[in-house]
Parts: sequence; C-alpha cells; structure tokens
Amino acid sequence: MGQGLSCSTSEEQGLFSAVKLGDLETVEAVLERDSALVRYSTVYDRNSLLHIAAANGQIEILSLLLNRSVKPDMLNRHKQTPLMLAAMHGKISCVKKLIESGANILMFDSLNGRTCLHYAAYYGHSDCLQAILSAARTSQVSASWGYSRFVNIRDSKGATPLHLAARQRRPQCVHILLDNGALVCASTGGYGFPGSTPLHLAARSGSLDCIRELLAWGADRLQRDASGRIPYTVALRHHHGACAALLNPSSAEPLVWPSPLKFISELNQDAKSLLEKALMEANREREKVILKGTVYSPPSPSASDSGMDDDVSEASDTDLCCICFDQICTIEVHECGHRMCAQCTLALCCHNKPNPTTSCPSVPLCPFCRSNIVKLVVAKVRTENDIDRDINSSKPRKSWRSRNLSEGSSSFKGLSAVGSFGKMSRGSGRIAAESELLDKPLSLDT
Ligand SMILES: [Zn+2]
Ligand SMILES: [Zn+2]
Repeated sequence: MGQGLSCSTSEEQGLFSAVKLGDLETVEAVLERDSALVRYSTVYDRNSLLHIAAANGQIEILSLLLNRSVKPDMLNRHKQTPLMLAAMHGKISCVKKLIESGANILMFDSLNGRTCLHYAAYYGHSDCLQAILSAARTSQVSASWGYSRFVNIRDSKGATPLHLAARQRRPQCVHILLDNGALVCASTGGYGFPGSTPLHLAARSGSLDCIRELLAWGADRLQRDASGRIPYTVALRHHHGACAALLNPSSAEPLVWPSPLKFISELNQDAKSLLEKALMEANREREKVILKGTVYSPPSPSASDSGMDDDVSEASDTDLCCICFDQICTIEVHECGHRMCAQCTLALCCHNKPNPTTSCPSVPLCPFCRSNIVKLVVAKVRTENDIDRDINSSKPRKSWRSRNLSEGSSSFKGLSAVGSFGKMSRGSGRIAAESELLDKPLSLDT
C-alpha cells in the first residue's frame, strides 16, 4: 500500500463502500477490472480494504481479499492490523478467519502500544478474547513468548488486558482473563493512574461485577496505588457507594477461588462452572449482609432465584446434601462416588484469603471416607421420573442420603471434632465448619 496508491476517485470510493456493505459482486467486478485496487487504502487513516472488511464483519469479502494474497497483517496509519479492528468491533468470524490465515496476534499499535488482546478486552468482546487466547495457546507466541506473558501483556502505559477490562466494566472478559492466568494484582506503574491494580480501576469505574470477580480471585483490598490510595478510597472518591462497601477493608472478606489448589485444574468444565456459580452466590449472600443497613439496597432476588428455591424444596430428600442438609447434591467426588452440594464442596476447598505462608495447601479429602479427592464432577440430578420409578420399583435402591449417612457416620468416627455426626439433624449446617478439614471455617447457614 504505497502512498501513491491512495485513492479518491469515485470508482475507488465506490469500492470502499461496497467492501463496507458486503457487496461481493461489485467488489469482485471492480477487482476484475483493475486488480491493483486490492492494495488501495483510505486517504487519511490509510485503512486497507482488509481493514474495512474486518471492522465491518464482512467475512466473505475478507476471505476474498485473503485469497487474492492480501497479507493479513497490513498496517494503517496507527499501526493497527485488521485483526485489531475486528477485535475492537467484535467481529468474531473475521477474527477467526484472520488468525487462520496467519495474522500475528503479537502486534502493537502506535496509539497506546496495544495488541489485539487489549482491544478485545477493552471493548468487551469475550468471544473474540477467547479466540485470540486459544490461538495464543497453540501458536508460535506461546513457544517464543510464553502464554502467561502474552495474557499479561502491557500497553505503553503499563495496562494489561485485565486492567482495561476492569476499567471498562467488562466482567465477562475479566473472568476469562483471570481464568487464563491474568495476574489479579498486576500494577500498571503507568496508565494515568500510576501503580493501579485492576481492582483500583474497577473501583474507579464502579463496576460491582468486576469487583466481585476480582475479589473472588484474591485481589488485595489493601494494595495501594502510586498516590497511596486503596481501591476503597478510589470508589468513595468516585461516589460508587456499593462498590466502596465491598472494598472497605473492614467488611467481611469474600470467598476466594482456591486457584493454587492443583485439583481445581482437574475439574471438568461443568463442575467448575457449577462451583463458580456457588461461589458467586455465597459471596452475594455476604454482600447482602455488608450492604444491609447502608443506603445501597441489595438487588431484590430475581425470579430465577426464587424459582431455584422452589426446586430445592420440592426435590426429594434422597438427594439432599448430608453435610448441610440444606442443598441438593450436585457434585460427585471421584474415586469414592460420595456426593455433596456445591457450597459444601467449596467450603472444603476455599479459604478466605490465600495465605502466602502456606503455598502448598494439602489436597482436600472426601468428608465421608477421607480418601483424596481425585476429581470432582457434576452429579446427575435425579428427576421426578427417577424418583417415581424408585418409589414404584419393588426393590427400591438405597438412597444417596442413607448411603452417605451410613458410610459417613462410620468414617467420621475417626474425626474427633465431628464424632457426634449421628446426632446431626436437618439444618445443622455447621459440620464442615466444625471439622478439622477446613482451612478457615465459613458459615454454611445461608
Ligand atoms: Zn451441603
Ligand atoms: Zn468419599
């Protein structure tokens, strides 16, 4: 795209609008007449046809141009690649096509020194973010740069993609980035607010959801920015009262994902999202307590929430968790096959805050048989049909509850702290808290 090729004639203008609108026939016809036009760019921003196709999600034209051996990494005036523009505008099919065609994910623009990953995070396009991350896992980048270095890549002001996602109120992107190894306490040492962590930026933008994600991942409420402010102060200063309440160092600590625990990486995806959901719900219950009595009334329970409660009360006792006697068993422990609810599973694996002095926490044990938890999977929830069949069957199978109870009581005899397991009644939800299995107790009463 030599400078002399910049165009302004009406035919060329027509070509650009045809690319923008996805008018494949016109584009093909024009390029048939003059194939050199394929290298033209707009006068000011020097966007190529490929940039325009990518930014507008015109996948057919994008493919046509790539097939005519247009290079995927053309640069415009700001050294932006077509991939950056596709990620900026959330054009996932173009993002994928460009990556397939060999687009380099490790290019930096000249505006802020940002990569396509920054763009996807900043504009909150989680699908594009995922696509770029999975490309990074398999491409040259992870071999030469290292995957985690790519996830934590900084722009010219020191901001990682996680900073930008938190700053722009993009909780889904925050979640994905944390899940892929983004450093929760990374400090910018630049970015207008020197030394800010993602939590500072989320406090500044007032995004409760981002703050929840970051805190659940162990973000430090006491880390100070270059001006010596903790996130709490930043939230107060920007009048985000509910955020400030959660960030207040004297508020109860939220539950934190036990990311250092090796076994969590052996969770299957379904079990993981179930536990994540339980963790976020537990933290919301804490929030209600924190926000109670402040002017920031917690959001009223949604219809789906109350619907879930109904499900729980209607469900058969047979699948009730034998630790809390409150929730349905949704998680199954392997190898032993014991079942418990997601909240109790979390209670076994979570601790309130990562303890730097115990970097190697012990592997969690099954509370029923004390065998090592090798794997956690989602327990098949029994439907009403299953229950009917059991009731009508001439040989009813032993319910999970009684199986857990009988096996549990024998194996719990060895546990001095919970020797009175048999005395437990419905609603006595503190067995986990009383047991020595817990790093730090948490109330399961909610
Ligand atoms: Zn339970
Ligand atoms: Zn077991």
